[in-house]
Amino acid sequence: MTYCDECGQKNDDDAQYCTKCGNYLTKTSSIEKSIDKVAEEIGRKAEQFGKRIEKKAKAFAKSIEESSSSTTKRCPDCETELDSDANFCRTCGKNIK
Ligand SMILES: [Zn+2]
Ligand SMILES: [Zn+2]
Repeated sequence: MTYCDECGQKNDDDAQYCTKCGNYLTKTSSIEKSIDKVAEEIGRKAEQFGKRIEKKAKAFAKSIEESSSSTTKRCPDCETELDSDANFCRTCGKNIK
């Protein structure tokens, strides 16, 4: 079955012209159209997917940032990495509370 691009009329596969409006039926154009549609659909999905990935990546980066800043801190004097609940530097003994 071939559908007319112009009026949507169903025509036989071997029909050259639309039986309803007389439009010249080119089978390649309908195939190209469906390919275009698929490509468009894929493009849209890829865009959505990309946005979702971007969102997740941002959330992930934020969670890493938050977890790293909340679980560790550094001594202002000697830069030793310390637990967030540490009151004194384990390297130089500075009171960091
Ligand atoms: Zn037609
Ligand atoms: Zn220190």
